[in-house]
Amino acid sequence: MPDASQQAANAIDWDDVLAEVVSTLREYLRIDTSNPPGGEETAARFLGEILEREGFVTEYVEAAPGRVSLRAVLPGSGDAAPLMLLNHTDVVPAQREFWDVDPFAGLEQDGCIWGRGALDMKGMGILELAVMLLFKRLGIVPKRDLIFLAVADEETGSSQGIEWLDTHRPAWLREPEYAINEGGMAGLNFLGAQRPVFACAPSEKGPLWVTLHASGTPGHGSVPHDNNAVDRLVRALGAIRSWDRASTIDPMVQRSIDTLRDAHAWGDRQPSLDELRTRYPAFDAMTNDTISSTGLGGGFKHNVIPADATATLDCRLLPGQSHDAFLRNLREVIDDDQITFSTQLRSESGTSDFDTELIDVIREVVGEQVEGAIVTPLPTLGFTDSRVLRRRGVKAYGFVPTLMDASLAAGIHGHNERVPIEGLRTGVQILFEVVRRFVN
Ligand SMILES: [Zn+2]
Repeated sequence: MPDASQQAANAIDWDDVLAEVVSTLREYLRIDTSNPPGGEETAARFLGEILEREGFVTEYVEAAPGRVSLRAVLPGSGDAAPLMLLNHTDVVPAQREFWDVDPFAGLEQDGCIWGRGALDMKGMGILELAVMLLFKRLGIVPKRDLIFLAVADEETGSSQGIEWLDTHRPAWLREPEYAINEGGMAGLNFLGAQRPVFACAPSEKGPLWVTLHASGTPGHGSVPHDNNAVDRLVRALGAIRSWDRASTIDPMVQRSIDTLRDAHAWGDRQPSLDELRTRYPAFDAMTNDTISSTGLGGGFKHNVIPADATATLDCRLLPGQSHDAFLRNLREVIDDDQITFSTQLRSESGTSDFDTELIDVIREVVGEQVEGAIVTPLPTLGFTDSRVLRRRGVKAYGFVPTLMDASLAAGIHGHNERVPIEGLRTGVQILFEVVRRFVN
């Protein structure tokens, strides 16, 4: 005998739900929340008004003018601690000249919805919204409160978003036991696997943004000397390039590989770790602390040796790696006391346990709904707001069940970002069912 919430769920017309998801997402993508400057208030009000129309009580908070985050709660029976559905409303800017379509037109074309934020992460935000609306319409009373939190300012480090909430609304971040957020992916052809892989992220790499400041003796370009700030900087960058760092297999990456191997995801021929690293740069980055040189500054006249020069480095450390130890090693490698460091962004994330009730439910639902699918843990390469929740003891997972080819999922932050409509169908069905079963 199915229970009441199961019976209600059986009556859902998923074609209708998908049509609503698609039209809401297209409208949402037309709100330009490029960050900087963000201007997320319009997005928060857009989502908030939809929730209010369906009877939700909403709360808005403004960290700075126009930087608005939104919260709505579907009250549960209180028999278990809340589950949070977290999303961010801002997007990275789009360079229109490189796009085939207007990135803020919310176009539907070739079976996809196109636009900046389709993948990161307005598409997922609308799936979370759809789950909230379905619960309300079906009259399901969960045992856990369901919290919808749509935050501003994720893309530039969250100081006007979840970090601000952490200071000014700490209770909001402490109350959930679990959270589902961006990160992870549901991919076909993921690492060449022949079965669909739902990679679920219990952790993420930590960004460490460093600027090197080289100083030297200024002078006339016609008289070279050996205390040239530009030359010092070039030497330092050369030393960093040839720094031989051992690769590390994070326990979650190892578990992912083992899971895929045990499930014969690659058929008869299991690729070696080295093959995977060579073939998939993103996987390579998952097994190393990485350093990308991203900027150079210095000099003001062609015939003047400047007194200083700078370089920016985007370093990303594996989960659990000490940022201080990394900086000490970097200093040793550069070995030049006329080069000083400053850090612009450093963020470390904890790792959420992967053997939990929520992960069990995800495995069960994914297994039922997508034939042959495998659920694995995999840290997220970028950083997400989940780090702040993990700091507060919340079990937070990157779980985006929008199934698509892994190469399309890699379009996050790129040109022609788009999400396949059929992926949204799988996504909303799985997300709803995971939440329903978990809070039932
Ligand atoms: Zn994002």
